[in-house]
Amino acid sequence: MTSLGKLIVLTGPSGVGKGTLVRALLPRHDNLFLSISATTRQPRTGEIDGKDYFFKTRGEFEAMIAASELLEWAEYAGNYYGTPLAPVKTQIQRGNFMLLEIEVVGATLVKEVFPDALRLFVLPPSFEVLEQRLRGRGQDSDLAIAKRLERAKEELALSHEFDVEIVNDDLERAIAEIEQAIFA
Ligand code: ADP
Ligand code: 5GP
Repeated sequence: MTSLGKLIVLTGPSGVGKGTLVRALLPRHDNLFLSISATTRQPRTGEIDGKDYFFKTRGEFEAMIAASELLEWAEYAGNYYGTPLAPVKTQIQRGNFMLLEIEVVGATLVKEVFPDALRLFVLPPSFEVLEQRLRGRGQDSDLAIAKRLERAKEELALSHEFDVEIVNDDLERAIAEIEQAIFA
């Protein structure tokens, strides 16, 4: 009998470093896969449909919700984001670790569908550092950054509801803590 894989949820406010952590983790573990989300957000420069996201119209996204094709979904900064269910099931059945890098509302919903999921919350060293990282990334307008910071306050208040809290100050230490939580 093949052993079943596991669902890993990595969440935390925008700009905290989730994407950076995921990009470091994936090449280090060949049994770790990243779920590709659907979104109605416009692609950023360099983003590729089917690789970074499945870019959808609102109508297409709502059809996916109606057809129960999403494991979870949430509205974030004016756009829909959601996790396609089928690839998650496939990777877990293959015995792999499937990683969802998603915002906090969706992350809290995962428990209803996958009670055994391991849910990790990434915290910034401080709110000021979070703002610096969002601005330093240089990818979002001032309005988008303001929306994300406002939302971050509500999100940070929920961190204690997650299985493991990881402070992303030193990147390598944060990576090691995530690896410990997933693989130990
Ligand atoms: P998220 O995916 O959570 O929105 P990103 O991975 O895009 O966040 O990171 C936001 C910014 O913070 C990026 O410019 C990234 O290089 C930087 N960053 C991420 N982790 C660290 C860290 N441990 N120390 C310093 N800067 C970091
Ligand atoms: P961005 O627009 O910066 O790519 O993503 C904005 C936020 O949406 C991030 O916090 C990201 O983790 C989250 N996100 C990405 N995909 C999904 C998803 O499938 N579901 C949920 N709930 N959030 C997602």
